[in-house]
Amino acid sequence: FLPHLVASMQKMEETYIMIKPDGVQRGLVGEIISRFEKKGFKLTGLKLFKCPQELAEVCALSPCFCSYFCREHYKDLNSKPFFPKLIGYITSGPVVCMAWEGDGVVASARKLIGATNPLQAEPGTIRGDLAVQTGRNVVHGSDSPENGKREIALWFKEGELCEWTPAQAPWLLE
Ligand code: UDP
Ligand code: MG
Repeated sequence: FLPHLVASMQKMEETYIMIKPDGVQRGLVGEIISRFEKKGFKLTGLKLFKCPQELAEVCALSPCFCSYFCREHYKDLNSKPFFPKLIGYITSGPVVCMAWEGDGVVASARKLIGATNPLQAEPGTIRGDLAVQTGRNVVHGSDSPENGKREIALWFKEGELCEWTPAQAPWLLE
């Protein structure tokens, strides 16, 4: 039954999850990764990305190389009043970029993450358990399969993603 599993896993959905700078600075990387791991999703990409610029605040004011990724990532929000602050926040320190794959992973990851405003996020969700403010909500998750693909292609270079079959696959998927 393994070839059948390998074939079915290749068709699965993918999402881009990013631990934001506050999640990294607060030492929550392991905790956040483990929630997706324990659920049973497959990690296919993982890296730390840090804005190479010394003064990251500059990114909020003038477009620079490192803020390109955040600006492109959040381009649908670029007319919002909070956009400059959002870019300043995301470029303020290292982020953890991840690609996760699985059955219904996009919607399920959004549920694991919880509401945008952590005060409205249910207990048991990442934001509900670990954050208090919208502007410091520790983690990002793609909102659609299309955006999942778009964001993974934006943050990861070719060759950085890993295709593999987890040993637990037959115990997770029938
Ligand atoms: N954000 C903010 N203020 C707002 C709304 C959003 O600072 O009033 C930030 C917040 O970090 C949020 C991100 O912008 O996670 C993207 O907003 P979106 O509405 O896409 O929320 P998400 O998909 O992250 O839940
Ligand atoms: Mg969003």
